[in-house]
Amino acid sequence: MSKSRASGSVASIGYASGPLFFLSVDAVAYMPSGVADEEAVRLRAALTSAAESVATLMQSADEEAAGILEFQIAMLDDESLSEPAFAAIAAGANAADAWSDAMADEIQGYEAAEDAYFRARSSDLRDIAARVLRKLSGVAELAPPQGAIIAGKDLTPTQFLAMDWTRGGGIVLKAGSPASHVAMLARSRAVPMLVGVDSLEAANGDLVLLDAEHGSVVVGPDAEAQRAFMSASAAHRDRVQHAQLRVRDRAVTVDGVAIDVLVNIAEPADVRSLDLASCDGVGLMRTEFLFGHGLPDEATQYAAYRTVLEWAGDKPVTIRTVDAGGDKPVPGYTLDETNPFLGLRGIRLSLSRPDVFRVQARALLRAAVHGNLKVMFPMVTIARELAEAAQLFELEAKGLAAAGIPHRMPPLGIMVEVPAVAISPEGLAAAAFFSIGSNDLTQYVMAAGRDNNAVSMLNDVRNPAVIALIGQVARFGAAKAIPVSLCGDAGGDPAAIPALLKAGLRSLSVTPAQLPLAKATIAASRAMDPIDGAA
Ligand code: PEP
Ligand code: MG
Repeated sequence: MSKSRASGSVASIGYASGPLFFLSVDAVAYMPSGVADEEAVRLRAALTSAAESVATLMQSADEEAAGILEFQIAMLDDESLSEPAFAAIAAGANAADAWSDAMADEIQGYEAAEDAYFRARSSDLRDIAARVLRKLSGVAELAPPQGAIIAGKDLTPTQFLAMDWTRGGGIVLKAGSPASHVAMLARSRAVPMLVGVDSLEAANGDLVLLDAEHGSVVVGPDAEAQRAFMSASAAHRDRVQHAQLRVRDRAVTVDGVAIDVLVNIAEPADVRSLDLASCDGVGLMRTEFLFGHGLPDEATQYAAYRTVLEWAGDKPVTIRTVDAGGDKPVPGYTLDETNPFLGLRGIRLSLSRPDVFRVQARALLRAAVHGNLKVMFPMVTIARELAEAAQLFELEAKGLAAAGIPHRMPPLGIMVEVPAVAISPEGLAAAAFFSIGSNDLTQYVMAAGRDNNAVSMLNDVRNPAVIALIGQVARFGAAKAIPVSLCGDAGGDPAAIPALLKAGLRSLSVTPAQLPLAKATIAASRAMDPIDGAA
């Protein structure tokens, strides 16, 4: 009999088997020396060694991860962080207890902070606290064994980025949500992931079979569980491999309707190893990741946009102006709000900070000469926002023309992700195109936060209310000759694709890892309703 089983919600589809690796440090055993001076020396050495480990991680990190790790090194070097621990050691505590207690206070302080930026940094502090404890106890670095299944309460994007996923592995979380940012990262790197997994009875090193297609985890599997896993994972692998063979084909439904399939990316590195022939362009380039560690200057932005445009050649590249706010705070830019998903985020924030918006507009206008650029504004709710954003682009274009700097005005479109626009799109018919943001549209229509697993059952794009709105936007676009696409995560979800096609969508944007299965699903779906032929 297998040791135990648990189930959860699929956040990133796939199969993995390997040793379990718990993220918690509960198992850490520390042997105190009983001498205060020796304890202080040990703590000092653990701090230095932890900073060195983070610096090593940084060498192979991409830009996004490097910024996060840089913050951790700065914290480890900060004397004021370790001072209370050294004081406790002087008063008789051992190094591990002194450090744990001092960090617990510090983490609590960050978690209670008014400023969302500091609250978001509490997970970095937890990382640091655990790393130093492991150094003190001689426990191996948080480098899971090859192909390990990582288990824990939650996983931060920082932790995800610091791990090497090139050799397989998977994630099993008690909390988390399929719509969270770490889930998006997992999908984009094809790392199998389950969330909402309660009661996982297992120990570090136990063999685990993770089925992130049907949502199950088996610990210490018996022969029958192993056989079932092998056969389901082989079938999945065959489907993906088969789909991969046809990934360069144009996606056409069973009833002969051609569907554009584009990709969602976050940074230029995402297209480096992507075969351009496998997609119809970039449907969404999020720019928040450029803004992750402060406000990027015009040259940095221009270089990033130009790289992607040159890669895409004459295929379209839709770059979205920064959608900071909500669950994506940017230090020094976003505000501390009690309900950030309903606050000053996306275009609302950009229009309130023309100093920042102008820099992005200029970088985009200049980059536009290098390819087939479209610019998209997030969280547009009323026509005035689109008009004001377009006006700002016009003004910057004039400035560039006066200075003799090459530039081009791209088509300006909007995300349809606020229910007001989906219900009544007439007011925004001036947009050059619509791209449906099903992640936000679903959470707003269903009143179920995308970051909350407790309501993930409600956060369902296939709910008739959400599908009806998507269908309405598709019909409106067709009637007014406004191109409509969808760039939310539902576009790459085989379970949602048939409903999206039936709703009338003819263009989907998915993460690169989802391309093969999304195209295969389209090829096996009908776009028209067989009863009345309506599209
Ligand atoms: C969406 O809301 O569907 C979307 C694509 O934007 P983001 O996930 O970045 O909010
Ligand atoms: Mg959105």
